[in-house]
Amino acid sequence: MKNQIRKIPYARIVCDGNEQKYIREVLDSGWLTTAGKSHEFERLFSESVGVKHAVSVNSCTAAMHLALEAIGIKPGDKVFVPTMTFTATAEVIRYMGADPVFLDVDYGTSLITPELLKEAVSAHAEVKTLVLVHYGGQAAEMLGENGILSICRQHAIRVIEDAAHAFPSREGGRMVGGLGKATCFSFYANKTITTGEGGMLCTDDEGLAERARIMRLHGINRDIWSRYLGTRSDWAYDVVAPGFKYNMPDLNAAVGLAQLERAEEYRTGRQRCAEYYFRELARIPCIDLPVLRVNPEDHAWHLFPVVLKPDAPVARDSFMERMSENGIGTSVHYKPLHRMTYYRERYGLKPENYPGAEKRWQGCVSLPIYPSLTKGELGYVCSVIRNLLA
Ligand SMILES: *Cc1c(COP(=O)(O)O)cnc(C)c1O
Repeated sequence: MKNQIRKIPYARIVCDGNEQKYIREVLDSGWLTTAGKSHEFERLFSESVGVKHAVSVNSCTAAMHLALEAIGIKPGDKVFVPTMTFTATAEVIRYMGADPVFLDVDYGTSLITPELLKEAVSAHAEVKTLVLVHYGGQAAEMLGENGILSICRQHAIRVIEDAAHAFPSREGGRMVGGLGKATCFSFYANKTITTGEGGMLCTDDEGLAERARIMRLHGINRDIWSRYLGTRSDWAYDVVAPGFKYNMPDLNAAVGLAQLERAEEYRTGRQRCAEYYFRELARIPCIDLPVLRVNPEDHAWHLFPVVLKPDAPVARDSFMERMSENGIGTSVHYKPLHRMTYYRERYGLKPENYPGAEKRWQGCVSLPIYPSLTKGELGYVCSVIRNLLA
């Protein structure tokens, strides 16, 4: 290889804004767990998404669990979920004793489409909940007369959105965040904005938000912060359910506040990477680039997944190895859930029932995409890819 070997990790976190300042404020305040910073983060996040309620938690997994609990999922219920996702999207259904019904996804976008959903609805009329994923940061086709929300309304299906990839992201001019009954975001370390570990449940439904607030902290009907602020010297609290321990500490919220200030700048930086890849990789016939259904400005660009076609000179696994030998980190999103032992065995799942996901899975590789990737680094990544696939 002509180029000098560089080191380009799959993900690189940028934390050079107000993170240290806000963390210092938390440390100085002497109150490290859920208090003012978490509440401020909730307020600003709900404003930026344009939703009434934002409930901060310690992961997106927790947010999805709370959402399913709040809408009253019962043991034995069935819930639609795409097969092309992280296990968290489906495991929360099992937390409730309910059973996932896995949906295939579109080959080009990895999204559930209205057509795929319609087919699923006619095959499984008993399913009344959908957890959907805005894969890679691109919103699924939610709006419009024939959109997913319209189909779900017709069949009384409630929609919970797994938006772990999708901040900030738009669908039909609206921010992803208030389209379904609840929308769950992730601030895990490598997500588009981070709190280290963290998540947010967004909803316009007052009752749902109230239930999630109670259940994120042991089922206590009044959180510690409001007792602390209370004018009555009030030690008293009641427990209304066996809740969870899902609250977001202020130390994490401090990082989130600083990240939120720069979310659009980060998004633009990732879009720049995506546009570079589209330009430079377009003429390689043996790879399929991601298909766009939204404007590039409306995409959060969490992932840049390409698919090596069957006629590529190297298969996916050796391609990733060769990339790694050249100092470039890559990843796979995802090995579909119907191929994971637990789900495959428990539900007797067959790959041939998921042709879109299967076709992607055989060759999919996610390339590095983050705001600090330089033009020089992007050029290097593309030249290595060209050499491997020429
Ligand atoms: C990361 C991720 C999650 C889980 O997020 P946590 O905050 O780590 O719980 C859920 N769904 C998808 C699609 C993800 O990528």
